[in-house]
Amino acid sequence: MTVPRRRLVAGNWKMSRTNDEAVRLVRDLLRELLPAPGCDVVLCPPFTALTEVSYLLAGTPLKLGGQNLHFEREGAFTGEVSAAMLASAGCTHVVVGHSERRQLFGETDPTVARKVRAAIDGGLVAIACVGETLAERDSGRTLDVLAAQFDLGLGGLAAADLDRLVLAYEPVWAIGTGRNATPTQAAEAHRALRARARARWGGAAEGLRILYGGSVKPDVAPGLFAEAELDGALVGGASLLAASFVPIVRAAAGG
Ligand code: PEP
Repeated sequence: MTVPRRRLVAGNWKMSRTNDEAVRLVRDLLRELLPAPGCDVVLCPPFTALTEVSYLLAGTPLKLGGQNLHFEREGAFTGEVSAAMLASAGCTHVVVGHSERRQLFGETDPTVARKVRAAIDGGLVAIACVGETLAERDSGRTLDVLAAQFDLGLGGLAAADLDRLVLAYEPVWAIGTGRNATPTQAAEAHRALRARARARWGGAAEGLRILYGGSVKPDVAPGLFAEAELDGALVGGASLLAASFVPIVRAAAGG
């Protein structure tokens, strides 16, 4: 018998919110989402606000995540943070291989693989992102691109690692553009990724959560979550206001 996967909604604040703004946002969210959000919720503020936000989330079911990490444990890597540093700031999760990291900061599938490994070894849950560009979709290569990103970025993991892995399907053309994948497009990609995961890890892949990310807003969330393949969402812009993030969490929770 397969156990239903509990949905997860993660808010990626990107380079937004000073500490004072972060505190206000978290207070707004907690007012609406406590005592029980109805699904798992992870907030990913900028590094500078992690500790402050961790104090506010302590004792609540909401979790804290970083937006990136370095794969080394420590050393002369100016501007970088390690898994242990994120954990010590209260993080349980970390986003890895976001398309903005890939496109703007030169991350590749091999570096994603090293970062996912470092996150898991450091006791964090890696939220690993994959997704095709518009040119790749338009030329009919979406599923090949996803398969390659999966194999190169995640293929080295063992079934035992899966309780520390969440996958996020984020079509690059839908991130921050106001353009969504349709529920059908998202579900097709999720099915392909799940098939890849089953081929790699067998039955252990049934528990792997696959999130959708790309301009998820309150108006489109119910349609996306009508697809059983979607185990939640990675939300950028709409995670910056309680008025838009809370309805997405509620839609993921099924109400
Ligand atoms: C993201 O940052 O992962 C994202 C999906 O952003 P947005 O929701 O703004 O498209």
